[in-house]
Amino acid sequence: MGAYYPEGFNPVSIMVQTDYVRAVEGGVGEAKTGGNYAASLLGQMEAKRRGFTQVLWLDAKEKRYIEEVGTMNMFFVIGDEVITSPLTGTILPGVTRDSVLQILKKWGTHKVSERMITIDEVVEATEKGTLKEAFGTGTAAIISPVGNIHYKDKTYTVADGMTGQLSQKLYDFILGLQYGKEEDSFGWTERIDL
Ligand SMILES: *Cc1c(COP(=O)(O)O)cnc(C)c1O
Repeated sequence: MGAYYPEGFNPVSIMVQTDYVRAVEGGVGEAKTGGNYAASLLGQMEAKRRGFTQVLWLDAKEKRYIEEVGTMNMFFVIGDEVITSPLTGTILPGVTRDSVLQILKKWGTHKVSERMITIDEVVEATEKGTLKEAFGTGTAAIISPVGNIHYKDKTYTVADGMTGQLSQKLYDFILGLQYGKEEDSFGWTERIDL
């Protein structure tokens, strides 16, 4: 689904939503259910109006912790650590998120963390130059690199607005698995002879 996003496999610009929330603890945020999308529409419209492709949602209680982006789970590469939010019940436990975690653990090239990460940590890392890449994961786009993050009237550029190395490598590898071009040591693919 290369054309899922207007940018194709190119970095998207995302806007951190500081007014509205998508899901709350005790709600249905972890299910792929229509109501979750209803709650996200106003924020999404606002982002689009301001020239951003997707909304980055923060937790409903403190509005500090990264939850997810639109219909993707979110990953940040800070130094040699790859970070994604833990499954706390308010984000969707994406299949692609799980695949990326398993692939990264097998490759062993990065420290892989499922931990809470605040928007302040991300902003600080962009300012210090330690934020190397940011990308979303989801079935439709597989990997969607993030080139800009807009937060509180400031836009932070990630990886010079380009597709990062790890984003590209993960995208190529997962697409390769799907097409049978990469050897599947995970047992995820099944051959169907017609
Ligand atoms: C579908 C979806 C994802 C990604 O899940 P995949 O199983 O990887 O496709 C992430 N967040 C939300 C809100 C979604 O609806």
